Amino acid sequence: MTCSSRCWNPLVLALAGTFVAPQGRPVGPAPLDPPPPQYASWWQEAQACTGRRASMRSTHFWTALGFLNYPSETGLWSAPHDIYVLTVDRLDRNVVIHEMVHDLLQRGDHDSSCFTELDVG
Ligand SMILES: [Zn+2]
Repeated sequence: MTCSSRCWNPLVLALAGTFVAPQGRPVGPAPLDPPPPQYASWWQEAQACTGRRASMRSTHFWTALGFLNYPSETGLWSAPHDIYVLTVDRLDRNVVIHEMVHDLLQRGDHDSSCFTELDVG
């Protein structure tokens, strides 16, 4: 049997699927590199509260136009070290620190008291 476009399509779809972040799908992601200067002090705030220390350089920051699976979200953390924020909210302290806390704790839940202590819940 020869391989027609019918057997080719599932392979293309399978490969495309590997590039989708499991927790969500950022629309129009663009690298935020270097991150805005404010991020360094926000990272320190998140570190101080969580008690975790890590180099911010290990984390990749992105802007996004939206999130397909979470239409009302302003930010998204994707393990292990990708943070997406809406382009319009990239300088919003609450949005960015919220995702930084997820990144430092390596957890997607909101059990940490830091979300309320830092007022980024
Ligand atoms: Zn969150």
